[in-house]
Amino acid sequence: NTIIHLEKITKNYKVGTQVVRALRSVSLEIHKGEYVAIMGASGSGKSTLMNIIGCLDTPSGGTYVLNKRDVSRLSDNDLAEIRNTEIGFVFQVFNLLPRNTALENVMLPLVYAGIRKHDRKDRATGTLADVGLSDRMHHKPNELSGGQRQRVAIARALVNKPSILLADEPTGNLDSVISEDIMKLFADIHRSGNTLVMVTHEMDIARHAHRIIKLKDGEIESDTVNPEPVY
Ligand code: ADP
Ligand code: ADP
Repeated sequence: NTIIHLEKITKNYKVGTQVVRALRSVSLEIHKGEYVAIMGASGSGKSTLMNIIGCLDTPSGGTYVLNKRDVSRLSDNDLAEIRNTEIGFVFQVFNLLPRNTALENVMLPLVYAGIRKHDRKDRATGTLADVGLSDRMHHKPNELSGGQRQRVAIARALVNKPSILLADEPTGNLDSVISEDIMKLFADIHRSGNTLVMVTHEMDIARHAHRIIKLKDGEIESDTVNPEPVY
């Protein structure tokens, strides 16, 4: 039941005549339904790993099999297709369309997926209900609080039923009370069977995950089961 399989992944960046080895040899398996946090100091390779897992970038070497498909060396077009169907992204900045309502923002990925209009509305409404925003569907982002905006972004990420929810510092813009709310929502999302991978440098956030992977200098330093996940 492996959903993410990385085998000896390397990533090099050329900077002038120098080569930065951002990932040195990362091997990793994540199963369907796992809730994983990726931690590490600044510069340890978290974003690089996230970009590869999310098919935003390809590795310099090694193999990445996502949902039984080798995605290590796909074209940009094929990668974009995989992103749209397999991955839901949640970022620190919410990236919502400011002139559109919560409902319209959540319906948008379904437009790209070619879902019929009537079904789009039903599915987006259902997903907004799942994140606790039934009473805010017709509000625009500037009429919502920071936590509500992030809920809209999470609904938008989930509405296509992606294989993985990838979150990059999902609470980076939120105060600690609201962050805890979002972590409760992630726990619900995990309980309903979704696979979650989140990058964070905050232990307070990572301790909600059930498995914690620490990167150091482009390598996995530790990969442990969290004995006491918060929820
Ligand atoms: P983190 O997210 O943990 O801060 P990154 O993955 O951003 O780490 O960076 C890992 C290493 O790769 C760092 O040394 C960083 O300077 C380098 N790096 C990241 N992106 C680039 C890039 N586009 N060009 C050159 N070097 C990069
Ligand atoms: P397309 O080429 O089909 O327009 P994109 O390259 O815009 O696809 O990205 C596809 C998916 O990846 C979208 O869900 C988008 O949200 C996400 N994505 C890609 N790059 C970024 C980024 N830098 N920041 C946030 N989301 C991104």
